[in-house]
Amino acid sequence: MVAKREEALASLQEMFDVRGKSTIVTGGASGIGRAYAEIMAEQGARVCIFDLDKKGLDEAVEEMSRAGGEVWGQQVDVTDRPGLARAFDAVAEKHGRIDVVFANAGIDAGPGFLSPEGERNPEGAIDAMDEAVWDRSIAVNLTGAFFTLRNAARHMKQTGGGRIIVTSSVAAQINEAIVGTPYMPAKAGLDHLVRNTAMELGMFGILVNCISPGPFMTNIAGGRLKIPADRKAFEEQSLIGRIGHPDDIKGLALFLASPASSYVTGAQYVIDGGSRLRIM
Ligand code: NAD
Repeated sequence: MVAKREEALASLQEMFDVRGKSTIVTGGASGIGRAYAEIMAEQGARVCIFDLDKKGLDEAVEEMSRAGGEVWGQQVDVTDRPGLARAFDAVAEKHGRIDVVFANAGIDAGPGFLSPEGERNPEGAIDAMDEAVWDRSIAVNLTGAFFTLRNAARHMKQTGGGRIIVTSSVAAQINEAIVGTPYMPAKAGLDHLVRNTAMELGMFGILVNCISPGPFMTNIAGGRLKIPADRKAFEEQSLIGRIGHPDDIKGLALFLASPASSYVTGAQYVIDGGSRLRIM
């Protein structure tokens, strides 16, 4: 029995083995992306974080390295197409290949047309919102992810396969009045992008999946979910009475990056404490 248990544990380890995997996490200096980078580094992957925020990037790399991870960073804006391509090439050169890419960098899109108290929000009104908010949401959340996937495909095709994991949102599947309108269409576009890319890349051994979080306590929207009044509205939607902590996403991320999910592609995994059931 003991021998059997040891065998079972060994096969469990093998199932989730990402040791040595060359991994990129965009937007990995904070929140959900940082949790992806942490779990991959903790499990022995070689991780490169791409982030716009130099200070956050340096801190994240330092802390993960101190904890024993093989982690480095590049200051990259996912809307800078040549810069993004160069950063991918630098990872391929340093690690010899690229195995796992988390296309995660994303931003909020200003206030919704309703406040959490249910009042009309002039800044979030479609006829009044700043045009730049729409442009930036599409540029980072959708176009930035498109070019991340494009670079991932370019490298993974050369080495015979890989994993691409995109951070979408439950906001792609439901509509929310207290979230800025330009966020929803960008994330809905991402869901289609994931499915189409999965269709195209499956025969190259590249699996493409999507994680769709509900509310998580991160720095998005200037850390809006850390403000009790705003958090309350989201907590009340949750079926388990709380919003997500970045650590809550690590198990799913590891599953999608590891051999455990070798027959999974084109899939969407909602991770939201059941919130969307209440919103729908
Ligand atoms: P966060 O603000 O804590 O982290 C996002 C990181 O992305 C930051 O480090 C930021 O500097 C970086 N970033 C932003 N724009 C960038 C750019 N142009 N190029 C490179 N890096 C950039 O936010 P988060 O909540 O961890 O967000 C991560 C992803 O999760 C986003 O795609 C977001 O839309 C998605 N998401 C978050 C929630 C939530 O409630 N927190 C819910 C659903 C989906």
